[in-house]
Amino acid sequence: MMERPIPSITELHARYKKGDVRPSEVVDLYAQVIEAREKELNAFISLTLEQAREQALQLEKNATGPTSPVWGVPLAVKDNIAVKGVPLTCGSRILLGYTPPYTATVMERLLRAGVLLLGKTNMDEFAMGSSGEHSYFGPTRNPLDPARVPGGSSSGSAAAVASGEALAALGSDTGGSIRQPAAFTGIVGFKPSYGRVSRWGLVAFASSLDQIGPMTLTVDDAIRLYAIMGGMDPHDATTVDQPVHSYEELRWDGRRPSLRVGVVRTFLEEEGLDPSVRQVMARVMTRLEQEGLTLVDVDLPHQRYAIPTYYLVATSEASSNLSRFDGGRYGYRAKTYEDLEDMYARTRGEGFGEEVKRRIMLGTFALSSGYAEDFYGKALRVRRLIREDFVQAFRQVDVLLTPVTPYPPFRLGEKVDDPLSLYLADLFTVSVNLAGLPALSQPGGRTPEGLPVGIQWIAPYLEEKTLFQMASFWESLDKEEIHGAS
Ligand code: GLN
Repeated sequence: MMERPIPSITELHARYKKGDVRPSEVVDLYAQVIEAREKELNAFISLTLEQAREQALQLEKNATGPTSPVWGVPLAVKDNIAVKGVPLTCGSRILLGYTPPYTATVMERLLRAGVLLLGKTNMDEFAMGSSGEHSYFGPTRNPLDPARVPGGSSSGSAAAVASGEALAALGSDTGGSIRQPAAFTGIVGFKPSYGRVSRWGLVAFASSLDQIGPMTLTVDDAIRLYAIMGGMDPHDATTVDQPVHSYEELRWDGRRPSLRVGVVRTFLEEEGLDPSVRQVMARVMTRLEQEGLTLVDVDLPHQRYAIPTYYLVATSEASSNLSRFDGGRYGYRAKTYEDLEDMYARTRGEGFGEEVKRRIMLGTFALSSGYAEDFYGKALRVRRLIREDFVQAFRQVDVLLTPVTPYPPFRLGEKVDDPLSLYLADLFTVSVNLAGLPALSQPGGRTPEGLPVGIQWIAPYLEEKTLFQMASFWESLDKEEIHGAS
């Protein structure tokens, strides 16, 4: 396996400062890895290497070293986030030929701070999926074992970072799409509190759940990206009007956090939990106790309704959000049709893949008159109970520790024909979105075969700093073991 060119942004910046390397040379380094790995991995839908080189030369002209925490960072961006002039597909046929006329707020901020855009990454169509297999552009493979999936829906972003095709990436997380692929590829994935990061320029899947977040090799790298892209945005009325701390304020001071860690027993007793995941969790818990942290059992009694609640809320919102793709405004239009109705029907019939159609049908049904109260209305009420569970739990503890997924990365094709089994991949991630909380996944250990197993930290609303402290501390404890082997 080809080496990752650089292990972290922190290290990249140290090299920039010493004058060992220049941004344009860094772009070339990553271009080489892309050249070597992309055929197998299929992590990118489009590449923007020429643009990245030009940006790099521009940076070199204006400064001799880092002027921001993300200066000169080669970045891959999920293909549901708009960048002006760069095609955007959402992994779907229906957007073929669409090029956004504007740039998402997150990218506006990151580009201004000096990131280098390498390209747009592969994904499950419209961010619906947990394996990366539901893309019009074909599946992405897991760089740690190409016979396996990298998780999804931010499949390409995860594979790009894990393989060294990019140093960092952006993903979007509606029910786990940043955290789960991060776990499957052995990297860090961070989903901010709802409203912390602007969604302007992110193609909506389920607007009350979606958040953009970083996927990186280290926790510190995630903090860097978040500190730049987060914060109020007049273009997105759901962003919260509270300042996001700076990178300097958020970065870990190296001290052991004195926090009470909540453990959800029922999660560990979950029937479908793979023994390897249980073992990793047990080991992490023991290690934390040895370090003097207090572990407390907490209960989330409504968690067992999280999957059905999520799949009702998410599909209902998706059925409405995706109605705009009808051949009239964006991308693909059916070649032959009889009248306007027929044009819509054929365009959508040909343009959307199977999983997206399944979700639109489910959501349309859940919202249809006569059923809306029984399905969508009920889901909203249960959503409130799920959120209330977390409020209760955070009366006793500062942070929760859970698995990210019930099982380690599976083989390509293994679950693609069994949507219900695939939906279970989201068991531990979706309730976080339903409650609007911040959560971070990071490597927790490995299976006996050497596959990565992630752990997830969940903090109270807007308490991102707590997550970063816990995750940085864990990373420092386990550095050798989790990063050494890859
Ligand atoms: N896997 C979940 C789904 O298929 C989550 C997707 C996401 O977070 N975008 O809906």
